[in-house]
Amino acid sequence: MTDRTTPQTTPSIGRFAPSPTGPLHLGSLVAAVASYCASNEWLVRIEDVDEPRNMAGATESILATLDRMGFVWSKPEMRQRNRLPAYREALEFLKTKGLVYPCGCTRAEITDACLPAAGSGERPYPGTCRRGLPPGRQARTCRMRVGDTEVAFDDLIQGCVRQNLGRETGDFVLLRADGIFAYQLAVVVDDAAQGVNQVVRGADLLASTPRQIWLQRALGLPTPVYAHHPVALGSDGSKLSKQNLAQPVDEMAPEEAMRQALSFLGHRPPSGLDCAAQLAWARANWDFGRVLPVPSLPLSHGDL
Ligand code: GLU
Repeated sequence: MTDRTTPQTTPSIGRFAPSPTGPLHLGSLVAAVASYCASNEWLVRIEDVDEPRNMAGATESILATLDRMGFVWSKPEMRQRNRLPAYREALEFLKTKGLVYPCGCTRAEITDACLPAAGSGERPYPGTCRRGLPPGRQARTCRMRVGDTEVAFDDLIQGCVRQNLGRETGDFVLLRADGIFAYQLAVVVDDAAQGVNQVVRGADLLASTPRQIWLQRALGLPTPVYAHHPVALGSDGSKLSKQNLAQPVDEMAPEEAMRQALSFLGHRPPSGLDCAAQLAWARANWDFGRVLPVPSLPLSHGDL
């Protein structure tokens, strides 16, 4: 196995940041397990800033499942809905630096104006409002300037990742048309506020990381170490998610769910251990080199 671990002198502080859009399922359990086992200290953040997507009762259900499965978080969980003043302050700071501008474009206008970028498939913003709102247009969103910037980082699982922000994302939204702060801004402000120095999460977020690093630099915040594990796919080949009604962990035997998540990540604890003991074993034996450096894998691959 390749050793992709980086010797760390300071204790690693990791986090699990679920959006409360449904109960914990195996796909999100993988993210919880990977971030937990790879870190010395582990925190939880409920990413409930996108109010319309939240499902009633999901926060309580996720926290109860984590607790029942033996996860221990060292501080009370952070909730993004309580963090709006911090996001506002960060946005104001970026405005004073001239790094943010109002944009009047609709999503449809951006889709019509440009082709998806080769790497991420996202539509890079063509820069229509970068030099000021065209006459007669109203501001809808606030965007962060990126220019022709390449951001590179060394991912502990996926290796070196590079993205040219100008070509692949373009100036990106920090405040949405519905007045909700965008994920990219909230996550950067919160990771720093929680003192997170190691972010372990699914590779579906890999293409977001260069934007987050760009924001950290602009805000004068430290950049954590990143590790993006493969996303678990269901038998139909689509990402396991709350949206496609992946089976909630609570409806399975917890020891079996834990075994599946760990095995997906290349870690096989001795049999017969309860959840907390499996977690303790995996934390003591954690090796990023055992996690396959691919964007996604069928969940069943761990059974092979
Ligand atoms: N809230 C995101 C999710 O549930 C995770 C964000 C992150 O880990 O940065 O997919």
